[in-house]
Amino acid sequence: MGRDPRYDILFEPVRIGPVIAKNRFFQVPHCNGMGHVRPQGHAAMRGVKAEGGWGVVSTEEVEIHPSSDVAPYIEGRLWDDRDVPALNLMTQAIHRHGALAAIELVHAGMNASNLYSREVAIAPSHIANPATYVPAQARGMRKSDIRDYKRWHRDAALRARGAGFDIVYVYAGHSLSLPMHFLQSRYNHRTDEYGGSLGNRTRLLREIIEETKEAVGGECAVAVRIAVDELMGPAGIQHDGEGRDIVEMLAELPDLWDVNVSDWANDSQTSRFAQEGFQEEFVRFVKTVTTKPVVGVGRFTSPDTMVSQVRRGVLDFIGAARPSIADPFLPRKIDSGEVDDIRECIGCNVCVSGDYTMTPIRCTQNPTMGEEWRKGWHPEFVPPRTGNDTFLIVGAGPTGLECARMLGRRGYTVHVAEALDVLGGRVTREAALPGLAAWGRVRDYRVNQLNKMQNVDIFRSSRVTADDIVEFGAARVVLATGARWRRDGVGRANTAPIPGFEKGDQVLTPDDMLGQAAPTRRFSGPVVVYDDDHYYLGAILAEKLHLAGNTVTLVTPADRVSSWTVNTLEQPIIQKRLMELGVIIVMNQTISAFDGSRVTLACTYTGRESSVPAAAILSLTSRLPNDELYEELVGMQESVTAAGIVSLTPIGDCLAPGTIAAAVYSGHRHAREFDKEPSDEVPFRRELPLII
Ligand code: ADP
Ligand code: SF4
Repeated sequence: MGRDPRYDILFEPVRIGPVIAKNRFFQVPHCNGMGHVRPQGHAAMRGVKAEGGWGVVSTEEVEIHPSSDVAPYIEGRLWDDRDVPALNLMTQAIHRHGALAAIELVHAGMNASNLYSREVAIAPSHIANPATYVPAQARGMRKSDIRDYKRWHRDAALRARGAGFDIVYVYAGHSLSLPMHFLQSRYNHRTDEYGGSLGNRTRLLREIIEETKEAVGGECAVAVRIAVDELMGPAGIQHDGEGRDIVEMLAELPDLWDVNVSDWANDSQTSRFAQEGFQEEFVRFVKTVTTKPVVGVGRFTSPDTMVSQVRRGVLDFIGAARPSIADPFLPRKIDSGEVDDIRECIGCNVCVSGDYTMTPIRCTQNPTMGEEWRKGWHPEFVPPRTGNDTFLIVGAGPTGLECARMLGRRGYTVHVAEALDVLGGRVTREAALPGLAAWGRVRDYRVNQLNKMQNVDIFRSSRVTADDIVEFGAARVVLATGARWRRDGVGRANTAPIPGFEKGDQVLTPDDMLGQAAPTRRFSGPVVVYDDDHYYLGAILAEKLHLAGNTVTLVTPADRVSSWTVNTLEQPIIQKRLMELGVIIVMNQTISAFDGSRVTLACTYTGRESSVPAAAILSLTSRLPNDELYEELVGMQESVTAAGIVSLTPIGDCLAPGTIAAAVYSGHRHAREFDKEPSDEVPFRRELPLII
């Protein structure tokens, strides 16, 4: 199949200063939790993007100096020449596939914790570190510090060129770098020629661009990444105010403009809060004030939207971080007419959680992300089958569907039995919740792939029993039967059942509220949502109950709503939404009892008790695996063996309930690894320090 001519425009080469990108697909900088600590894993991950057809592949933030140490976060590092070989691994991996390599040089200024280097952070003016609540302050820079910073940036640019980069970024984005801090009047209180008027506040950025061009401009393009709006009104930079003025002042100076909104949480909004292409209204002015190419982002996964962005003169390059994570082969699939096969990003920001938890990146849609080097997993190529075993997979949730997809691709004969007439398990149920429709892509991508495979069949409306399984006679049985929410209150905070939670239909779990057959009830009195789960579901269900006309109190043992969503950049938005709706929020409290009309609360610090009225409780504490079928089969070992079943394996939520990302990973892993010899060895390659 060939490329649809409508998409030809996306494959036009574009000149960026002294270099030429082979097409308009631009993987913009993104964090990955590997950075300078795991350079081989990092290089392999970027190399796969280049192989997948991205014309430009960028690093994440790369620290240019020990006073820009963002520990404990793991980013790139280019402090001196000894950091060059690690980055050179990456440029080689990118160049091997004909892409350009870009590096985002960063001095984090007041955002540098310097917890590792113990240097003193620097800023336009004396200021307390605003981002991380590190008990430290940045000192206001003297003129000599500005000279030092410019020299460090220039040296880093020269090293970047030496490492093989084609594009060198000057970074003034996300409120995370010195040039941006100088632009922001709330941080820049200087009275010299670097402060005061916008022209003065832009001086440092201008000088850095000029000096970077002078240092490496002959060979490398110099790009500027800049936030044109901070989405905070007149308190910050605005696209129809200073944002526009800055771009106008510097219009022809860089070779490329990479423009977005700030801060990171605004830029990388989840699908729950922002649609594909949502940044257009903020960035579209840029192309009207410069002749230089412009790249922008917006979680673009649809080639039609991409073409529209280019044809309407909004962008020259389709910038992508998350769409390139979910499908590193997105450009190649468009090029070869396989648009249908694109694994579209669902906008969940599980990828971001890798950065926030300082661990290698992971992705809900793409289980190979971060595993390219350490497990040798490729997103498109899979090892062929090693035998003739037939598989029966019970359950078509994200685990079962991914396991079937991978086994099918390996060439095995696979049968999937699903109790319901709809596929997708929890994904289908949760995608019906407000704002989560895009999560259905986890199901849709896999079902679409499975429908094309002759060697996989799916039986819907087929709830199987242990006897059915024995009778079926597949050699390998995989139990992907999912999990259910506990009704007794046992979870993180309560390790024993909560007295009163046995009260019939007054205590609900998410299982009672999810799915089409479960309209949201209006209760006779207030509803208490007890969220000891701390991810997205408690807040969404509280919102749903509120919208159905209930008075809702959300009780959580945590000190904030949906506390884990700090790692997906959503927490402040979620809490704000509930507060604005009028949901009552009670934090730092556990529920110790329910008498049918009130719940007793206990303070997590003092144990002091109080109570709130409750006609019903929605309890999200923990889940139990649906492993009864598995246990029954284990108990019928003789018949199982007689039926020729050689393995019985629970995977995904049936093994241990977790995220959808973990479910997909589990299904994928089983399909790749079931035929490996069991071993006690560490199940992946590690990057160990060199002792010198
Ligand atoms: P996971 O996240 O691990 O994929 P889910 O709960 O999303 O788990 O999906 C499990 C699927 O298994 C559900 O669609 C459920 O209907 C199905 N299932 C559970 N028990 C059986 C059974 N005995 N026979 C067939 N399907 C089952
Ligand atoms: Fe998209 Fe979620 Fe994957 Fe991130 S983790 S790339 S948001 S699907």
